[in-house]
Amino acid sequence: MSERHPLSETLSAYAAGALPAGARLVLEVHLDGCAHCRTEVARFEALGGALLCEAEPSELAPGGLERALAALDRPTPEPPSEPPSRRLTLDEVLARGFWIPLGPSLAVKRLSRFADPGERLVLIRAAGGQALPEHGHAGPERLVVLKGAFEDQLGRYGPGDLSERGPDDRHQPVAVPGETCLCLSATDAPLRLSGIARWLQPVLGL
Ligand SMILES: [Zn+2]
Repeated sequence: MSERHPLSETLSAYAAGALPAGARLVLEVHLDGCAHCRTEVARFEALGGALLCEAEPSELAPGGLERALAALDRPTPEPPSEPPSRRLTLDEVLARGFWIPLGPSLAVKRLSRFADPGERLVLIRAAGGQALPEHGHAGPERLVVLKGAFEDQLGRYGPGDLSERGPDDRHQPVAVPGETCLCLSATDAPLRLSGIARWLQPVLGL
């Protein structure tokens, strides 16, 4: 089981359906392998349901009842000719896009079209021993290890482990020697990169 878990606020936001699409995908990789966090999510969901049941009944907006009744009288719209869009599996998401090499042992793949507008979703592949660009954050960064492991100032992260960093954190993950490290990262704002990576940032979408 994973040893590095998301923040409690993140699990409660997930349970409330309030996380953006990319962050949701990152979190679900962790939840797949973490019974502890799945239990927490179920607890938040139950709590949310109980709060809804206890909520005071709210007044209808003026004309609300008439609009609701009129909507009931309307004919059912034709079903769309396209099949309803289904959520892609992680493997399907990972198979899309193309790798942008950043050197012989580091590459990124932008998957932003699977994220919400303004969000960045990136797959990072680093050979064992390779350091990622040192960076800070303008907003939350949620990153999950899919394969291999990396280390940063806070310790080691292996498959399924989730790293959450905020605006006050700078770090430089390094892939642990011996195996390629594959990570999925979702951010709400551009990373604060230093050095040459900063100039490549528009291309990298980090
Ligand atoms: Zn967990």
